[in-house]
Amino acid sequence: MITVLRIGHRISRDKRITTHVALVARAFGADKIIIDTKDNKIEDNVRSICARFGGDFEIESGVDKKKIIKEWGGVIVHLTMYGEKLNKSIDEIDKNKDLLIIIGAEKVPPQIYEMADFNVSVGNQPHSEVAALAVFLDRYNMGSWNEKQFNGKIEILPSNKGKKVVSKDK
Ligand code: SAM
Repeated sequence: MITVLRIGHRISRDKRITTHVALVARAFGADKIIIDTKDNKIEDNVRSICARFGGDFEIESGVDKKKIIKEWGGVIVHLTMYGEKLNKSIDEIDKNKDLLIIIGAEKVPPQIYEMADFNVSVGNQPHSEVAALAVFLDRYNMGSWNEKQFNGKIEILPSNKGKKVVSKDK
């Protein structure tokens, strides 16, 4: 079970990037995203994509982030450019335990760094939570996300030219 915890979400400023975070989480093998700020619109958007493209991905918003972190029974990874190298951390993370991946939007409070089991950097340059999450998940599940079957009403078939889309919505 892999859950992504998005903290510091600002409804007007972050709506697009938090939606991308959720879609990357879903596509790259996570089971759930939790967003600290209540945002019904993002919940509806993501659920609508899940209803069409399939899978069991869950979304919840408006949560007490500290409570989630304190009560988490598995491993906690915080993605930050200040963290330990991904190549080093990835081998130390117990893959048999549930995983909570924390990513920020604005400045992340120091307590989060302390509460995480692993502060992990995807390179030590500032970039994006979307990129950091995608690279981390790809390394964590060793590319197996790409074989996942979503069994959606809409399925896109790989194609070098043109769009091949199968619609099972009858
Ligand atoms: N300035 C903020 C801070 O000091 O915490 C970070 C803002 S950054 C745009 C948003 C999020 O992207 C971060 O909280 C982190 O999760 C992720 N991020 C950005 N660069 C990263 C990197 N090199 N490695 C891992 N995560 C990164």
